[in-house]
Amino acid sequence: MNPEPNKEIEEEFIMTHKTPNLDIGCTVRSCAFHCEDQDQCSLSGITVEACPGCGSGKAKDESMCASYRHK
Ligand code: SF4
Repeated sequence: MNPEPNKEIEEEFIMTHKTPNLDIGCTVRSCAFHCEDQDQCSLSGITVEACPGCGSGKAKDESMCASYRHK
């Protein structure tokens, strides 16, 4: 059983009715929430998590978007 059915329905709606969130710039074009013609996210908010095994101090190794969903 899906623990968050409403969240899944909301995400499905967002993916088919994408509106750029001007507060969240993003260049990850492989993400289902990325707005194709603008480098913005279509979610109202995102979660940023620490990368597994982080500790190098380099930005690319330390944080990632946990809200990412592959197209
Ligand atoms: S969910 Fe994260 S990776 Fe995907 S478009 Fe939004 S900010 Fe970018």
